[in-house]
Amino acid sequence: MRPMALQERYPNLHVSRHPLVAHKLSLLRDKRTDPKQFRELVRELSWLIGYEAMADLSTQARPIETPLEAMDGRRVEPKVGLIPVLRAGLGMVEAVLELMPSAEVWHIGLYRDERTLRPVEYYNKLPDAATVQVCLILDPMLATGGSSAATVDILKAWGAARIKQVSLIAAPEGIATLSGAHPDVDIHVAAVDRELNERGYIVPGLGDAGDRQFGTFAGPASEPGHAHDETAEVVRRLQRNLQNP
Ligand code: URA
Repeated sequence: MRPMALQERYPNLHVSRHPLVAHKLSLLRDKRTDPKQFRELVRELSWLIGYEAMADLSTQARPIETPLEAMDGRRVEPKVGLIPVLRAGLGMVEAVLELMPSAEVWHIGLYRDERTLRPVEYYNKLPDAATVQVCLILDPMLATGGSSAATVDILKAWGAARIKQVSLIAAPEGIATLSGAHPDVDIHVAAVDRELNERGYIVPGLGDAGDRQFGTFAGPASEPGHAHDETAEVVRRLQRNLQNP
């Protein structure tokens, strides 16, 4: 399904149209881009997409004095929390903190079982009650959408009033999963790619965003990239869901 058709079906989907984003994303995708440049590009793109994702934050009046006179300034009203999806989301944190230095960073550890592609929670130290109003989930790749939907479940149970997904590349299957489970969650991305392949990779994509950031290309056989019947079946189910929502 083309990005325009997806945006019609999912009004919560926001795909950047900025030429700098398109330029930097192409460099990011290029297989010749080394981990150092890859990390820099993830940072720059996270800044740009994070900026777009925060465009509708409410502000309140704040009286200030310029060297010339008093005036009403503005201050961002809601408290913002950043929730990087480990581990690839870590590379997005610094950039968004530059934009919003007062943001709290909360880590929720979910790993994707590489056979079933289902999220498994292994780390969660959120306090009992939400300490922020707006949560930005940071994950460069919105692939199956399973981890994001599970993270949103946790954040809603925590009491977050508003939740946004900030990603660099999304697969249509992931958008359908997340929007189906949580239509109120805004999804901000640099691009929507064609599909997931039978290994759960976004194509054309950029490969494994964690490995490319951290230079870990020699992982064990259980890591993504190793085809398995169960994985391929999960992807086919997600693709059927996308065709027949
Ligand atoms: N995670 C990645 O890092 N890349 C993909 O293509 C899908 C999930």
